[in-house]
Amino acid sequence: MPTLDPAVASRLKRDDHGLVAAIVQQHDTREVLMLGWMDDEALRRTLTSGRVTFWSRSRQEYWRKGDTSGHVQHVVAVSLDCDGDALLLEVDQVGAACHTGTRTCFEAGGPLPVVRVDAAPGGDR
Ligand SMILES: [Zn+2]
Repeated sequence: MPTLDPAVASRLKRDDHGLVAAIVQQHDTREVLMLGWMDDEALRRTLTSGRVTFWSRSRQEYWRKGDTSGHVQHVVAVSLDCDGDALLLEVDQVGAACHTGTRTCFEAGGPLPVVRVDAAPGGDR
C-alpha cells in the first residue's frame, strides 16, 4: 500500500478523527467552492491522481468528487496552511461544486446578516 509522503504527513495537524479541512477554490476565478475533509489517504490520492478525493464523514468512506455527479475537480495546486490543520485546493471545477446544483456551496447556503465596521486607516496588522 502506498502511503502519504512522510514529509507531508509530518506537517499535518489532524483533528480527533484524523482529518484536516480542505477548502476548495476555483483556480482562475478564485471562487470559494466548498469545504471537504481529508485524511492522509484522501490527501495522498488527491496529490497523486490529479483528482480530488475526500473522506466522507457521513458515509465513512472515500469519495472522489465527480464519480457519481460528473462534477469532477481537477487538481491544479494544493497548499497547507500555517499550522497544518487546513488545506487549500486550487482546482478546475467541472459544473456545480455543490450537490444541490449551485456553483458553490456558499451560494446554496446564502449570506447571513452581518454588521460591517469600516477598517481603521492603515489598520493592516
Ligand atoms: Zn454544497
